[in-house]
Amino acid sequence: MASYDLIVIGSGPGGYVCAIKAAQLGLKVACVEGRETLGGTCLNIGCIPSKALLHASHMVHEAEENFARMGVEVDAPRIDWPKMLAYKDETIGMNTSGIEFLFKKNKIDWLKGWGSIPEAGKVKVGDDVHEAKNIVIATGSEPTALKGVEVDEETIVTSTGALTLKAIPKEMVVIGAGVIGLELGSVYARLGSKVTVVEYLDHITPGMDAEVGRTFQRILKKQGLEFILGAAVQSATAKDGRASVTWKNRKDDSEQTLEADAVLVSTGRKPFHDGLGLTELGVELTERGQIKVDAHYATSAKGIYAIGDAIPGPMLAHKAEDEGVAIAEILAGQKGHVNYEVIPSVIYTHPEVAAVGATEEQLKEAGRAYRVGKFPFMGNARAKAVFAGDGFVKILADKETDRVLGCHIIGPGAGDLIHEVCVAMEFGAAAEDIARTCHAHPTWSEAVREAALALGDGAIHA
Ligand code: FAD
Repeated sequence: MASYDLIVIGSGPGGYVCAIKAAQLGLKVACVEGRETLGGTCLNIGCIPSKALLHASHMVHEAEENFARMGVEVDAPRIDWPKMLAYKDETIGMNTSGIEFLFKKNKIDWLKGWGSIPEAGKVKVGDDVHEAKNIVIATGSEPTALKGVEVDEETIVTSTGALTLKAIPKEMVVIGAGVIGLELGSVYARLGSKVTVVEYLDHITPGMDAEVGRTFQRILKKQGLEFILGAAVQSATAKDGRASVTWKNRKDDSEQTLEADAVLVSTGRKPFHDGLGLTELGVELTERGQIKVDAHYATSAKGIYAIGDAIPGPMLAHKAEDEGVAIAEILAGQKGHVNYEVIPSVIYTHPEVAAVGATEEQLKEAGRAYRVGKFPFMGNARAKAVFAGDGFVKILADKETDRVLGCHIIGPGAGDLIHEVCVAMEFGAAAEDIARTCHAHPTWSEAVREAALALGDGAIHA
């Protein structure tokens, strides 16, 4: 039996970052992981493999749509699907082995197997029981099930199966127009699938600034994705490699059925903490099955903490990472903290969509007096040069103080551009601070400055 200052259960972005930070702060740390490789959902079946396929399929799209316009003559691209999947797996491997290297470098023991907590201060892995002064649960999440939908991970798949389909489907139905469904749906649309997205609500991407959401849907439609909104899926069944999806129109209750070669069920994720023994330990859960924690990530059981997808808040890798750092600092006697007001979110389609802070709808609801500064990428020289003029930057600022309250971007590099505004918000900056900062030309980030300028005397290029 080994004894540690800290045992982290789960090696996703929450768990592995927590383990590394705690080791850097001088704690003796072990991390339990039941999967064959480290890195959790994010590196193995989430962020990283989906981005590899988004990149590869975007290259196909560039070759098909834009090469000839730039005077690059090539034959129409042919897709070698097994090779594309191998590229995706190689990307996963490089990242998961990178975490293994970092564990060794920081002298973190990887306890291989599924962990449970027989009592506070003890973690059981296989037949071994280890002692820990503190335990951090970072066991992540799993896809939610949908009544009447029979997932077999071959024809009717979750995001996990969608990353390993045997062939590119001719027709695909995506149930749920959230981030994961639209990212993977646009991968297959670019690879030639006829993709139909069926969504319960009457708009896509719930929680997104409505103006950005409408623009996003229009752009995706132009790329060939079809949308059936206000539709409650009743069932999805598979037979001999074909699937049948039935939904009810929520306005008139009429039922319709669609056939496809693959169905992706992307209706959300729920916290995963099976087998840990939480009930016996008296660890309280929320109504949604998340582990309840206080402001310092402490659960209701002494010495047991929880972070990441397993607790409330946005299910995002960087939110889990920041919580991992914060709890490591707290356990090392420092003052760890996460600013939940400034957590960016990104959709890695093409164009990308990114947001931070309040949406216009949220500001209206809160009765906050605000102003909007907008700038279209059509006015940005660099964007036009690479055929990426679709979309805009929208900055929301306080009407009186000009303080930045939120930013919503749809356009090239949005997922990177947003961080300029994140930093501005962390420093409590006014939009004028962004407007007065020199931005290199020609860059996409000039569009962020122009949106800030639009809140003052006016954008230059609009
Ligand atoms: P996880 O990453 O889920 O890791 C938990 C780990 O704990 C797992 O490896 C699991 O095997 C292990 N575990 C569980 N129970 C035990 C046990 N009892 N013993 C031992 N090990 C255990 N987020 C982003 O920010 N950006 C993106 O682009 C993005 N893309 C995504 C794409 C897809 C397709 C999916 C599914 C998710 C995506 N996410 C993205 C979400 C992101 O993956 C999660 O928010 C993030 O992984 C959560 O981190 P975590 O550390 O809380 O848990």
